[in-house]
Amino acid sequence: MKKLFVKTYGCQMNAYDSAKMADLLAPLGYAQTDAAEGADMVILNTCHIREKAAEKVYSELGRLRTMKAERAKAGGQMLLAVAGCVAQAEGEEIVARQPAVDLVVGPQSYHRLPEMIARAAREHGHVLETDFPALEKFDSLPAPAQSGVSAFLTVQEGCDKFCTFCVVPYTRGSEESRPPQAILREARQLAEKGAREIVLLGQNVNAYDGPSSDNKRWSLAKLCDALAGIEGLHRIRYTTSHPRDMGDDLIAAHGENPKLMPYLHLPVQSGSDAVLEAMNRQHTADDYRRLIDRIRKARPDIALTSDFIVGFPGESDNDFQATLRLIEDIGYATAFSFKYSKRPGTPASTMRKQIADEVKVARLGELQKLLLKQQYGFDDSQIGKVLPVLFEKRARDQNQLMGRTPYLQPVHVHGDVSLLGQMADVRIEKRTANSLHGVLA
Ligand code: SAM
Ligand code: SF4
Repeated sequence: MKKLFVKTYGCQMNAYDSAKMADLLAPLGYAQTDAAEGADMVILNTCHIREKAAEKVYSELGRLRTMKAERAKAGGQMLLAVAGCVAQAEGEEIVARQPAVDLVVGPQSYHRLPEMIARAAREHGHVLETDFPALEKFDSLPAPAQSGVSAFLTVQEGCDKFCTFCVVPYTRGSEESRPPQAILREARQLAEKGAREIVLLGQNVNAYDGPSSDNKRWSLAKLCDALAGIEGLHRIRYTTSHPRDMGDDLIAAHGENPKLMPYLHLPVQSGSDAVLEAMNRQHTADDYRRLIDRIRKARPDIALTSDFIVGFPGESDNDFQATLRLIEDIGYATAFSFKYSKRPGTPASTMRKQIADEVKVARLGELQKLLLKQQYGFDDSQIGKVLPVLFEKRARDQNQLMGRTPYLQPVHVHGDVSLLGQMADVRIEKRTANSLHGVLA
């Protein structure tokens, strides 16, 4: 057996892709290991969304080059591959900056990895694949070899929205939805391998518009409805959504589909109309408020989360205050927030009035303080309640299990390992910094 180490950066779509690459390489005799030391092949599955994410990859490559040289000195070999969005965006530059890299494979081409490995061995040079053969990769992937209790399933790739700060439309290509029948097949396979929850993934997952075999198009709501019929599957989630694509049927599904969890990641980025316009988000802050009202009408207890960017070019103090006001109005269960980071090739990177880093740092600090207060408030509101928890794995404290509430909060509970993969009612007793604690009810 050869050893394969895959290191994943960035979003859940990359985590899904990493698992697929491992499945693809298994028939070539590669078994996964959890460290680069001693591996015959190392894949860095990279993220390009912020500058820091890309720089981390180059410093990791420096470390791996030394390891590869030592391996060669001892008579061994280590193949070094860069996959994901940095590979897509900076293919040629990667091999120029780090000649130890053997393979560069973009997110739409990793189904070609086996043939690329063979070519690298034959030609002793760098092999680059960064085409966009839309959806071809999904047709060429093996069935999932294994599954955790909660499994990712990519249903849609790419994005046509062109927010002015974002590289995704350039690195992942244009929006494509997988056929619903292929998704249902993969979901059934995952359920057979032990998945009890499926998280549907897409850069714009709620824009899902799947070409069905009967020539009809399926919305995400219809897909969730069909998934709900799969035996053994208890929970369905989806991420990430865009406010503009939140269709009436999907909103209604949150009130009607009992397997669709009351949790929605709906990024708004900013609460200022001027900034939203400069970002090309194509909705106002009040559009978003009204949308949230409708969603809460369909499912009053829904947990809402978002992404925020502070320090977008031209963001004034007033703009930033408008973002804080929006957060106060909505009340989030949790949220992600970032300092604006210039991405080469995107319109915002050349906008005038770039914001000084110390201003970004101060705004991020203030925003995160408010978001954390809301998160603790939301978590505390569960104390004393009895919630259905799906148990996923043993907790770090080996006598405990880790499960999740319908609102995706991690809960630690003393219980028997036979509960893994099962749902049980848990009385929530307390909150610590990052999780809830409870007892079986
Ligand atoms: N499609 C999703 C949406 O429209 O909300 C988001 C996809 S993106 C992978 C995840 C998050 O990264 C974005 O919501 C945004 O907050 C953040 N992000 C993207 N580009 C960024 C940039 N240039 N600087 C800082 N944050 C960025
Ligand atoms: Fe990027 Fe999301 Fe905007 Fe698409 S919708 S460009 S993925 S931030």
